[in-house]
Amino acid sequence: MKKIILTSLTMAAFAALVACKKNKEGADPKEELPKYANIETVKDVKLSLSYTVTSDATLPSTFADTVKKTQDLLNKVFASKDFRDELYKRNFHDSAYTKSTSTCFNRVYGSTVTGRSIAGKSVYDNLLPNTTFSIAVNIRKNGDNTTTLGSASACGTRITTNDYWLKLSEKRLAQRLARHWAHEYTHIRGYRHDSNVPSGYKWGSDVNKDPAYGVGDVVGVVLDKWTAAGLIK
Ligand SMILES: [Zn+2]
Repeated sequence: MKKIILTSLTMAAFAALVACKKNKEGADPKEELPKYANIETVKDVKLSLSYTVTSDATLPSTFADTVKKTQDLLNKVFASKDFRDELYKRNFHDSAYTKSTSTCFNRVYGSTVTGRSIAGKSVYDNLLPNTTFSIAVNIRKNGDNTTTLGSASACGTRITTNDYWLKLSEKRLAQRLARHWAHEYTHIRGYRHDSNVPSGYKWGSDVNKDPAYGVGDVVGVVLDKWTAAGLIK
């Protein structure tokens, strides 16, 4: 009889332990979302930005602070309802058009537009599949070329940013970088421009057709809105 009581107690203790664990795991996911003053969040995002600099590149002495600010801005934007809602409004061309480079994400075509279009929601889901992710950048001097901000390969691992425009005189440099790195990160997530597409099917740099220009534009739209509202500087 004594043995049975002990077993019952052990079972009760075990059940309590399981219940406790379940409660923790079953917590309302909204409580886990980051909270920013007056910015509504819909996603938990923990982005870390890292960068290297080639020996011939020139940067402002405060550039490390600028990158921290950019990381903070991108975390806020990617986590926000504003970013999601603005991207959901758009439909893009399928710029992940080759099988060889489509393996880094799940390609989903839009259901509301005919042809091989992709809904903004698909781009959003492919851009932010994980809560925690990182973006690595290499900053270099690109000779006398002052027409290209930088580049990244479809399904690649690292962004290249050219140094010529990274100056404190650049208006709101951290915001400009946020747009640029969001654009390049869209390439890393598999989306390309139309350079290899037959001439009859090209879509150009239209922010409502090209996913990378679109994501960069949406980041800019959201940051401009928050700046105008005094939510960020
Ligand atoms: Zn690009």
